[in-house]
Amino acid sequence: MMTIKRIPNKIYLSEEQLPKQWYNLRADMKQLPDPMLNPKTMQPICEADLYPIFCKELARQELDEKTAYIDIPEPVREMYRMYRPSPLVRAYQLEKKLDTPAHIYYKFEGNNTSGSHKLNSAVAQAYYAKQEGITSLTTETGAGQWGTALAEACAFFGLDLCVYMVRTSYEQKPFRKNIIKTFGATVIPSPSNTTKAGQRILAAHPDTGGSLGCAISEAVEKAVTTPNCRYALGSVLNQVLLHQSVIGLETKTAMEMIDEYPDVMIGCAGGGSNLGGLIAPFMRDKILGKANPRIVAVEPTSCPSLTRGKYAYDYCDTGKMTPLAKMYTLGYDFMPSANHAGGLRYHGMSPIVSKLYHDGYIEAVSYEQTKVFEAAVLFAKTETILPAPESSHAIRCAIDEALKCRESGEKKTIVFGLTGTGYFDLAAYDSFLNGTMTDSIPTDEQLQKSFDTLPKV
Ligand SMILES: *Cc1c(COP(=O)(O)O)cnc(C)c1O
Repeated sequence: MMTIKRIPNKIYLSEEQLPKQWYNLRADMKQLPDPMLNPKTMQPICEADLYPIFCKELARQELDEKTAYIDIPEPVREMYRMYRPSPLVRAYQLEKKLDTPAHIYYKFEGNNTSGSHKLNSAVAQAYYAKQEGITSLTTETGAGQWGTALAEACAFFGLDLCVYMVRTSYEQKPFRKNIIKTFGATVIPSPSNTTKAGQRILAAHPDTGGSLGCAISEAVEKAVTTPNCRYALGSVLNQVLLHQSVIGLETKTAMEMIDEYPDVMIGCAGGGSNLGGLIAPFMRDKILGKANPRIVAVEPTSCPSLTRGKYAYDYCDTGKMTPLAKMYTLGYDFMPSANHAGGLRYHGMSPIVSKLYHDGYIEAVSYEQTKVFEAAVLFAKTETILPAPESSHAIRCAIDEALKCRESGEKKTIVFGLTGTGYFDLAAYDSFLNGTMTDSIPTDEQLQKSFDTLPKV
């Protein structure tokens, strides 16, 4: 076999290597996540329960626990080809700076206008909706990446889109909404007076900056009360992890090409979709006993659903309109501190990631945001990409793992997901650079207060 002297900085796949199927990790899990429950009956949901919210094929994918490989429709691959396969990059300059024997790789998903991996699922969700004759979609967006991604996908397939944007982001990231509007979507700051859920929340908390949970309630209500309209969600759901498996499948092919295998895989975890997608084919190896990579989920100390949350049934939204999911959660009305700038603000975690964490396949750590931004700046200076604050959680952890290798002399292969770029997070960078950024860690009492609201199932 040929020995590779120097692995190139970027390992590009050819267009022919773009995956033809997504991988559904549930088909290989030894124990499946507990079923989602209908919020009215508290019984396990069936496909038809989801039809008012999702189009049929997505409802089917959401509940499909058996089919390991699902064909990626050709029109979806056609849009994927505009920005995929994405490069796997060897972080030579970061390694040098850290003086580590570790090999550090990142899968870079920020190379499209939406600036994040979210486009991978947006394309699929818009395609299936269009295919079934749906004319418009609604969604929520927090930091703005998902709203942007879905707006791009809806423009491509010819669907109308209404985005409920968490009010604090709407105000802090004004330019993000201009991109969403450029792609033809409508943007409404949430909570708003356009829905009953929004009106209720505004009546109870007139000055609220909003939350993802609240924006989800508004978007779902709008979808179920508008003819030919469905709702789309950018993370947490099983269907989203399925679509994001394209990240992991490409990563696996690229690593095979350079004859490496990860010892450690790291992903930031908000709702768990990029992590779930990146690790999917490697987790398959782990479950089947073919390999045993360590897998680490990284979250902010201000929204610590895995490291301090409860594994329980909870609502996915503040207005209790969505099915209940068994997941690690901080409670459906948990509001992360307003000064937390780094994204990853959702109260719950993907049921698949939650189950794998619960069963010991995944580890989790949390970092304060100032530590995360230190890592972001070091990464920008060495690798010349300005990382998204969310992604920088993974960078922080990868750096710490590489520093451990410096101490031990171990030549580990570390792979992390660089989920996006930070060009719309410059206010957060500014507060870090001028020294005004602070860390916020909820107290046990604060967490207990929202745990007390968990539904009794
Ligand atoms: C949304 C987002 C995340 C977090 O979402 P997951 O579903 O946990 O992947 C991470 N990074 C970026 C850039 C994002 O836009």
